[in-house]
Amino acid sequence: MLADSSDHRRLAQVAAEERGGRLRHEAGDRSMLTTRLSRIPRVALCHLPTPLEPLPRLTEALGGPRLHVKRDDCTGLAAGGNKARKLEFILAEALAQGADTLVTIGARQSNHVRQTAAAAAKRGLSCEAILVDRVRYVSPRYESSGNALLTPLLGANVTRVPADAGGEALLRRADEVRAQGRAPYVVPMGGSNALGALGYVSCALELSVQAREAGVRLDHVVVASASAGTQAGLLVGLSSVAEGARVHGISVYDADVQRQRERVRSLAEETAELLGIEAVARDAVVVEGGYLGEDYGLPTEAMREAVRLVARSEGLLLDPVYTGKAMAGLIGLIRAGAFSPHEHVVFLHTGGLPGLFAYEEAL
Ligand SMILES: *Cc1c(COP(=O)(O)O)cnc(C)c1O
Repeated sequence: MLADSSDHRRLAQVAAEERGGRLRHEAGDRSMLTTRLSRIPRVALCHLPTPLEPLPRLTEALGGPRLHVKRDDCTGLAAGGNKARKLEFILAEALAQGADTLVTIGARQSNHVRQTAAAAAKRGLSCEAILVDRVRYVSPRYESSGNALLTPLLGANVTRVPADAGGEALLRRADEVRAQGRAPYVVPMGGSNALGALGYVSCALELSVQAREAGVRLDHVVVASASAGTQAGLLVGLSSVAEGARVHGISVYDADVQRQRERVRSLAEETAELLGIEAVARDAVVVEGGYLGEDYGLPTEAMREAVRLVARSEGLLLDPVYTGKAMAGLIGLIRAGAFSPHEHVVFLHTGGLPGLFAYEEAL
């Protein structure tokens, strides 16, 4: 039997009350998390907040859902990207410990190393960069352009090492710096420890406020997943302030999806512990495989299509190593029917622009 109109009225009222309760609850969680984050030292390096923008032409080209982009390619710090938010917390610890030299590691075209070099320069520290020959992509521009050009330009002292010698070289360089009477601080690969992941807890807070103001529901967030700090931080943040938001990590680094999932889960656990909040539910950790291609840093056809489509429909530049593959993942999920047409999906643009120049031949 159909409910009569008084049932409808009562139902609408109950729904409004429940929604009000949830919003109050979320606002309470937001202020709790904001307070806890504010107790952790942080150095300002970023242009914040980064914009949250609709992608109407891409939405139309793909036939829905409603797509938006969180522009963390606009964080500033020497061409932008996700490592800037992590470095705000990491650099604060380095300075508190009296460090005068940041020592870090990454691939030849590492965005993380480029932004670490920039952060060091901005605060008057030295930077020692260990660049690992991990990527089997061979081209002259890969060697000389993009981040390979920018990292030494920002003043970092670069040492290149073979694929399997990175960890050892990193520690040896820290010892050498110490032996010279300087004070090294080792920044982990990708800035992905619990401290760095706080940058993305903070991003989750920022995003939840923006989304509410713009009338965007955080049904799904799609992000590239590599050293895992970005996805882990987002998960920790959104789990507590945006009930129901699903974070889809697209694996662009590890072909073993289970291992990537565990990388994200354990880092999310450490990050929650650092903040003194509840760990995220195990089944909230979602990592999608199938978009990496042959290996980290090797171009795929789906990446090329995604980079072209987004450039031509929205005037928005992605990169070949991370956001191009993550967008290929978003497109693949849409085509597989993972979202319904009225749902909202936010793509987190994590930067990587210099990579376009390094991969010129592949594009
Ligand atoms: C490092 C990086 C990522 C991956 O973030 P993680 O925290 O390492 O998972 C994504 N996009 C770009 C452009 C990056 O440089």
